[in-house]
Amino acid sequence: MNEGWQNELGKLALWLISGLILGAIFGYAVWGLAIGSLIYLGRLLYTLKRVVRWLSKGAVGAPPNVTGVAEHITSLVYQRQRRNRNRHRRLTEMVSSFRDSTASIPDGLVLMDDGRGITWFNNAAREYLGLKYPDDIGQRIDNLVRHPTFTDYILKADHKRTIEIYSPLSSAEYQELRVLPFGESQELLIVRDASLLHRLQKIRSDFVINASHELRTPLTVMRGYMEAVDGDSNIPKDLQYPLKQVSLQVTRMYHLVDDLLELANLESEDVRLHEKLVNVPSLIQSLMKEAKALSAENEHEFELKVDEGLALWADEKALFSAMSNLVFNAIHYTQAKGKIIVSWQRDDEQAYFSVEDNGPGIAKQHLSRLSERFYRVDVSRSRDSGGTGLGLSIVRHVALSHDGELEIDSELGHGSHFSCCFPEARIRQRNVVSDKSVVG
Ligand code: ADP
Repeated sequence: MNEGWQNELGKLALWLISGLILGAIFGYAVWGLAIGSLIYLGRLLYTLKRVVRWLSKGAVGAPPNVTGVAEHITSLVYQRQRRNRNRHRRLTEMVSSFRDSTASIPDGLVLMDDGRGITWFNNAAREYLGLKYPDDIGQRIDNLVRHPTFTDYILKADHKRTIEIYSPLSSAEYQELRVLPFGESQELLIVRDASLLHRLQKIRSDFVINASHELRTPLTVMRGYMEAVDGDSNIPKDLQYPLKQVSLQVTRMYHLVDDLLELANLESEDVRLHEKLVNVPSLIQSLMKEAKALSAENEHEFELKVDEGLALWADEKALFSAMSNLVFNAIHYTQAKGKIIVSWQRDDEQAYFSVEDNGPGIAKQHLSRLSERFYRVDVSRSRDSGGTGLGLSIVRHVALSHDGELEIDSELGHGSHFSCCFPEARIRQRNVVSDKSVVG
């Protein structure tokens, strides 16, 4: 039994025995016992009243000066209070050091619940996204950052990707955004300033555009002269071969400059796509005329699987360039009399332009790098075929700028399959009399 209780029982015994003895002296032992009990009870009630008053004031400050079981109770409460106060102080210190550290992080951080409602953000997020505390707590992030690329990104919840958009507060600044899963069902949005990187990319792209423009004019003049002297019988015999080589190299440089310019334009935000409803089946028809001329004596077998009613909201010139790069590659890399299947079809989710050949195929290790600039599997073969190494890069950029993607599937010795996929939002159905497949 602890000291408080012993003390309390001692007091009770003292009052009862004193009452009993005094009562017995006067011949009223029972009355003496009753009065002793009442006095003890009265003192106990008074002590409890003081304890209750102290408790009802939140048990702050020193406990009342009481003894016995009441002292035991007050000391238990006091110790617990002290422990709670210490815990609270430690928590407050932790929260404030967390606040200090998140405030010193230069990246914007926004914590979102499973419905994309904002639950917390740091100072940098305030500056990057213009968030206001406490007004924006609970608001959906896509209601505050209104940018189609961001809305699309956040809906897809693609945690592996980052996106770059103009700052919602200033079109002179550029930001990189990434959403990561956080805890059980939350998400963390990280915002970084990407203005410098973006400026450097723009300088590079502007340089390529300007240099290509400057190189184009002299190359056009040289090409013109080379065509004029081509096959001229007055040219001495020993000069004919070197001149032929010069002509080939000038043409190669001309195509290279053309492809560089096209790629830089596709990347540049200053050059806008001219989008309209494109009659893709008719575009394929024109393309196939060029393809057959290019194939010429190689006599490739072409098969077309075209949905005649399928149109696309797109930039016609860019689309034609992507399609022709895929078809011309198939012609360049597929052996004579090889088969090339050109399809324009749709499924429930997307439309795809694909080119399949039974050519040499490409080893798996090259596939992920094929659409990088100047990446070639066989450099000399590519050069011999007049390739610039930029074709698939252009195709990928055209697909991306139309919210689509380039899919490549190939196996060494078993041909290749390239597909440009476009999302459903861009697909339009045209009214045609029959929806047929044409074999060319
Ligand atoms: P290039 O101008 O060299 O053709 P591309 O970017 O169009 O450049 O293609 C990159 C590389 O991909 C080519 O060098 C070639 O090795 C390979 N390639 C492209 N299309 C095919 C194909 N249909 N069959 C086999 N290899 C291909």
